[in-house]
Amino acid sequence: MISLSHVSKRYPGGYQALHDVGFTIDAGELAFITGPSGAGKTTLLKLLVAIERPTSGSVIVNGQNVGALKPRAVPFLRRNFGLVFQDHKLLFDRNVFDNVALPLQIAGYGAKDAARRVRAALGKVGLLKYEKALPITLSGGEQQRLCIARAIVHRPAILLADEPTGNLDADYAADICELFRSFNQVGVTVVIATHDQTLLARLAPRVIALKHGKLAP
Ligand code: ADP
Repeated sequence: MISLSHVSKRYPGGYQALHDVGFTIDAGELAFITGPSGAGKTTLLKLLVAIERPTSGSVIVNGQNVGALKPRAVPFLRRNFGLVFQDHKLLFDRNVFDNVALPLQIAGYGAKDAARRVRAALGKVGLLKYEKALPITLSGGEQQRLCIARAIVHRPAILLADEPTGNLDADYAADICELFRSFNQVGVTVVIATHDQTLLARLAPRVIALKHGKLAP
């Protein structure tokens, strides 16, 4: 499903974030990208969804060479993915329901179909009772669950999360962990970038470790 071969990424300005990285992730796997801050974890996730392009090497997702995709093909690639990224902020002037509905509206879903999917997604993350609430009234853990509902509302095959427990205390982090496990158990491929050791211990996932942009043994 995901296959990287000899992937290097040098940012404009010359910083080499990834050096000759290769691995595969099969459909249905739960995989962690680990490593200290600056190791290249976020860069790796961005390559999978064509937010960044590799300088060399190949990034293949569902048989498509992501690094070579034309810009107009990128939205089709992204339909495969749900993204829980730190820079994808919630809209604090819209309620919980509308935050989750927005990606479906943009994708052109009808109102009735969208509402059904939004409620299904909110149900999965346990936020149905807050559908009319504003995000600011939710706890940090609930806000993160809302981000996850927004990421899975279009039922992606692959869920990518970048430090999803970064700002959460241990109980909330455990809660988020269980959610990722539940999506994985129904067949979603889950890839999580983190340096959170408790998350690792809890989920016992496949681990892809990075150090200074290289695969660590
Ligand atoms: P991690 O997620 O493991 O903390 P990143 O992939 O965010 O690592 O970053 C790897 C390295 O690449 C860091 O040294 C970072 O400063 C650098 N980097 C990340 N994004 C950019 C960018 N857009 N331009 C230049 N350098 C970047």
